[in-house]
Amino acid sequence: MAFLKVVPLEKALEVIDSFPLEPKVERVPLGEALGRVLAEDVVSPINVPPFDRATVDGYAVRAEDTFMASESEPVRLKVIGEVNAGDFPDFELKPGESVYISTGAPLPKGADAVIQFEDVDRDGDEVIIYKPAYPGLGVMKAGADIPKGKPLLKRGTRLGFKETALLSAVGLAEVPVFRKPKVAVISTGNELVLPGEGLKPGQIYDINGRAIADAVRELGCEAVFLGIAKDDRESLKALIEKGVECCDIVILSGGASGGIRDLTSSIIEELGEVKIHGIAIQPGKPTIIGLIGGKPVFGLPGYPTSCLTNFTLLVAPLLRRLIGRESEVRKVKKRLAHKVFSVKGRRQFLPVRIEGEKAVPILKGSGAVTSFIDADGFIEVPENVEILEAGEEVEVTFFG
Ligand code: AMP
Ligand code: MG
Repeated sequence: MAFLKVVPLEKALEVIDSFPLEPKVERVPLGEALGRVLAEDVVSPINVPPFDRATVDGYAVRAEDTFMASESEPVRLKVIGEVNAGDFPDFELKPGESVYISTGAPLPKGADAVIQFEDVDRDGDEVIIYKPAYPGLGVMKAGADIPKGKPLLKRGTRLGFKETALLSAVGLAEVPVFRKPKVAVISTGNELVLPGEGLKPGQIYDINGRAIADAVRELGCEAVFLGIAKDDRESLKALIEKGVECCDIVILSGGASGGIRDLTSSIIEELGEVKIHGIAIQPGKPTIIGLIGGKPVFGLPGYPTSCLTNFTLLVAPLLRRLIGRESEVRKVKKRLAHKVFSVKGRRQFLPVRIEGEKAVPILKGSGAVTSFIDADGFIEVPENVEILEAGEEVEVTFFG
């Protein structure tokens, strides 16, 4: 495979789209469903509430028994007992009868209204009613909240606490969700060390390992950080092999630019196939896309801002597709805060920060980690454009 045979971004996306990966469904206990994405539409299997239920504490009556009630001529009904939440009354209320009922308790047969106890007087085994009740007063009918068969949630919904509460309300103990793809993350470079270790001269802390792993997690997938590979064949090959073994997708950063120590592409070629090496975008020209044993392997640029931009452009759409979230909008239109210059003949992606309706370009260069830390996303400057004017409409793609 020739080094840097650059292809357009669209071609790279096409190749990724053709990879042999499909969304998979698994069933998880409701208690583990938070944050997951629903893989099937859900309709309610039951009526909620399942029975006609009192919404106040008071007296269940036959409304027609109270139609003649007034302040001057109250109606007296016999109180034949009480029904509490959790009980199920197996008797029928006869004309002239009432029963004490608490909030949430099922109405006995025959009863069609509940008068709250504050509005009546109790006199021994009788209740004194001063104004008419109407059918449905103080009652929530079976299924009035959620009728059986009602569509509740659509495939592709990300489950927050409201959605898990709804699933709980209809008694679903197991939820069909998209299986989280497992993504191996590898940093490469002799200069890199992990936080917690001291920095020796010439060393820097690893940024991409953390950034990619957590971007993967934020998207709702599983990340396995395999650590830092040295710029030598054995070290890098061992970690790539480990990644392909344990995960569905492998993401490397650094070591993709064809330098003397940049081994990623030759190892991918040895273990599988390099599909693309070089995309006609800036940053991201040295990006590698390959397949090993049917599993996608991405070699992203080393500079953190470049790395995360390419992750967002290339890997995030694949991950979103695999967990059923492809429809989620990750773009907004804003106005450019000030003029920017670009290189003609290069399709460029520029980090920007969003301030209200404005997109503020961040021009520290991709070598600065704060370029992407300070940014919310990036904008595209097309190939044939040299200058974007202040106030021009731009589309911001959010990172991750
Ligand atoms: P490379 O693509 O390996 O030549 O790396 C390009 C630049 O990105 C170099 O300055 C590297 O030190 C830097 N770099 C590569 N990987 C990382 C990383 N994981 N964290 C922070 N900086 C990195
Ligand atoms: Mg390197």
